[in-house]
This record gives sequence, C-alpha cells and structure tokens, in this order.
Amino acid sequence: MITTMMNRAYNFGAGPAMLPESILQEAQSELLNYQDLRLSILELGHRTEAFREILFEAETLLRRLLGIPDEYKVLFLGMPARQHFSMVALNFIGQNQTAGYLLSGIWSRLAFEEASRLKNAYSIASVEEGNLQALTHSSGWHFAENTAYLYACPNETINGIRLRALPKYKDKPLIADMTSCLLTEPIEVKDYALIFAGAQKNLANAGLSVVIVRSDLLDTVDGISLPALLNYKNQANHHSLLATPPTFNCYLALKMLKWIEAQGGVLALYKRNCDKAKKLYDFIDASSFYACEVAKENRSLVNVCFKLQEPGFESQFLQQAEESGLLALKGHKLLGGLRASLYNAMPLAGVEALIGFMQDFAASRS
Ligand SMILES: *Cc1c(COP(=O)(O)O)cnc(C)c1O
Repeated sequence: MITTMMNRAYNFGAGPAMLPESILQEAQSELLNYQDLRLSILELGHRTEAFREILFEAETLLRRLLGIPDEYKVLFLGMPARQHFSMVALNFIGQNQTAGYLLSGIWSRLAFEEASRLKNAYSIASVEEGNLQALTHSSGWHFAENTAYLYACPNETINGIRLRALPKYKDKPLIADMTSCLLTEPIEVKDYALIFAGAQKNLANAGLSVVIVRSDLLDTVDGISLPALLNYKNQANHHSLLATPPTFNCYLALKMLKWIEAQGGVLALYKRNCDKAKKLYDFIDASSFYACEVAKENRSLVNVCFKLQEPGFESQFLQQAEESGLLALKGHKLLGGLRASLYNAMPLAGVEALIGFMQDFAASRS
C-alpha cells in the first residue's frame, strides 16, 4: 500500500483545493499576532494601513505574474465565481443586445442559462456529451451582429475539457471564467476584456473572487438599475473596498502569489503542470483498467477526468485511495466517474503516489 511521506494527505479535490503546506504553516504561526500588531489577521480592519498593504501587494504581484496591462483594473471581491454568471449579463448586455456563449461544458452552460434567464444570450457552439467536434472546428461557430460580448470557460473543471481556440468576432469583448486555470498556464491578458476566477481552486480559500477587467468595458456599464454591489464599475471605483472584502482570503491569496513567484512564476508552474498531467494521462492511456474519454487535444491540464473500465470497483477504489492518503478523487456529481485535480499546489510526488496506487489497485483486481 502506498502512503504519502507527509502526515497530510494529497488532496485531489477540484475545489476548495490543496494549498501549499508552507502557506498553511505560515498562516497558523501568524494567526494570533499578525506582524506584531498584537491582533489576528482575522481581526484586522479592512481600512487599516496593514490591510491596504496586503491588497496593494496582492494586486502588484498578480499584475506582474500575468503581465496585466495598465488599462485593466484588478478587483478582489467577496463572492463565489457563480455570482459573475449573473453579473456579466446584468452589467454588459444592454437593451436590444445579446451575448454569445461557447458551450464547452457544464460551467459555461450554467453561465449561459443564467444569462438567458436575465437577458438575451445565444450559443456560439455547443459540445454534446463526448463529442468535442464543436470545439476543434471553430469554422462552424456562429455569431450575431448585436453581440455585447463573447463568453468562454477555457478550462471546464467538471468535464476535464480545455479550450484550444477562443471565440472571436470583430472586436467584441471576450469574457472568460478562469476559475480553475488562472495562474496555471501563461495567458495573454489583452485577449480578454474581463477575466474572473473564484479563488478556491488556485489562489486561496473559498469566498473570494478575482476580476481583471479592461477599463473601457467598465465605461459601458449602465448602473442605474443594478444593485450597488453587483456593479463592476462601482466596485472598481471603490478599489474593492465598497463592502468589507474577505480579508483572510486576500491575505492567503497574497501568500499564494508570493509562492508562485518563488516557484519561478506562471511559466515554470505551467511546465510542471504539463509534466504532471502528461504522466497521469500517459499512464491512463496505457492501461486497460482505466480510461479517459476526453479527446487528447481537448484534455484539461489541471482536471484529469477518468473512469474505471469496470465501474463496479469505483467505491472500493475511492475508499482504498483515501486510506492511502489520496483524497477527493470522486468525479463531480453531475458527471460521475473519477477526477484528479492537479492544480499548482499539487506536487509531482502527489501525482506519482496516485499513479503508484492506481497500478497496485489495477493489479489487485485483475
Ligand atoms: C468551481 C468553478 C465555478 C464555481 O465556483 P463557485 O465559487 O462555487 O461559484 C465556476 N466556474 C468554474 C470554471 C469552476 O471551476
């Protein structure tokens, strides 16, 4: 039986996800007394110099790590990623306008359904279960003239699908849900008008989301009918301090951003993520016991969805994995099967431990 070297297990959950142990230890050691202020980070006021410094440093680091141009605002907001499904529609789809959604999996579909409920939206192309043709042949994509924005989810966390091509129509703004892929691979920020990401996959604990938005898009917001907190422009004008932001999450995010920089930045982590994913996919493809049904060119770098050829063994697999210190490998409830999330904080050793376990498990059942 494989056991991990540390006391902590490897957490393969899609989110809230694994954080580097060093960060948890730092947070623990600072919990009673933050920077000799004689109070906890949990008690620190959001308008204090010390907290403003956390927010400022986090923004500066994020800008540096992703090469965010000056004409973009960076917001740290207390809301889950799904809040943006309604917010982007409410903020940016004007009267007599619609928005185009690339339906690449469950998260983009949910965003599309929310936008359709509140405003007008259409599908650029849609992926049927197991049929990814719609994503590889962008020649078949369709766009409407009165489109306010295009929407995509570059990494579909639940389906294990990664987009290869982004929708493009004239100079329409592109909005992307990068909840599960932000900071795991290099991106060209100027290709997007707005990027949002919930923090619990790659950046911090649950409750915070990060928004990177081009100022000229904010200028199109007609805020009259919007609740104040759901207005991106209003949030930007108040530098994320309109309401109390999730202060502890921001503090953890800053630690994570420092960690990413110390690892060599996004490109270095991307290379490591490619290594990790390749090892696991190669093992699955070579095995007759496991299978990954996502076409190779569409496979997610960080959410590896797979199944057992003999699904009857699944609960045994999950139970024994857990006993071996490999947690949260169950697939999303909407899709079933198994899923290993390999975000930045998952070390190569965790992937090797998983493969070792999978080998042993297959051997013991055949
Ligand atoms: C996890 C996830 C969400 C949902 O995040 P919440 O913070 O729970 O709303 C949305 N989109 C993607 C791509 C995700 O991975």
